[in-house]
Amino acid sequence: MKIGCVSIFPQLIEAALGEGVVGRAVRELVEFELVSPREFASDERRTVDDRPFGGGPGMVMMREPLEGAVDCVTERLQAALPVVLLTPDGERFDQRRAEAMAQSEGFILVTGRYEGIDQRFIDDRVDVELSIGDFVLSGGELAALVVLDAVLRLLPGVLGNADSTKDESFMDGRLDYPHYTRPSDGGVPPTLLSGNHASIDAWRHRKALERTFRKRPDLLLDRALDETDRRLLNELFQESSREREEGRQKG
Ligand code: SAM
Repeated sequence: MKIGCVSIFPQLIEAALGEGVVGRAVRELVEFELVSPREFASDERRTVDDRPFGGGPGMVMMREPLEGAVDCVTERLQAALPVVLLTPDGERFDQRRAEAMAQSEGFILVTGRYEGIDQRFIDDRVDVELSIGDFVLSGGELAALVVLDAVLRLLPGVLGNADSTKDESFMDGRLDYPHYTRPSDGGVPPTLLSGNHASIDAWRHRKALERTFRKRPDLLLDRALDETDRRLLNELFQESSREREEGRQKG
């Protein structure tokens, strides 16, 4: 996989990628190029921003240094990769998008700073705009790192156990089941200590569905439900109706 990243604070990205499984993935499994638009500024002070036409607060990132950086990354990686801009008004980044990006040939992440980016760069050079949530960060570096982490940990060989991501939240349109570890004294569901793998799988399946039903029922709308899921959800629905009724009577 080939990944490019464009940032005026490359040291922020480098520092975060120096550690952990995702850092190792970047060093060993990915062809990674990180370039600053400052290298493509036309003046000695390496200016990458200017005042907005029409006035108003803040500065705007100029198109030429960004274009130079994207071209440089493209050339170094020797591939015409989609350019992904991190921006609060982009499409919401989620696990499904992470999976699709993990299966792709690669991409170039462009991070912004200041009040905005010259719209002509976005119109001409950006293929996808992604947001990591409805809030505004001071720069796109943290957003790019969020995307990189979520994508890279899905690559084969990055996590120790190939099954680690299989049952995680959002992977199959539902949340993860609860986990327990030593000590085993009190509070651990007996099924998990039974050694019966079929029962353990069934317990985990039910708990994952229950968590999703209680915390994020919206996820179930997108999930293909089989006979067992429908029966479990029906039971959960009856259970929560009973709980609501009991709550009303008490209070
Ligand atoms: N004026 C812009 C607006 O209101 O949409 C906000 C610019 S923000 C201060 C600077 C940069 O941070 C953006 O260009 C973008 O790269 C990044 N950024 C901020 N919030 C983000 C988010 N929620 N998702 C992805 N990137 C974000």
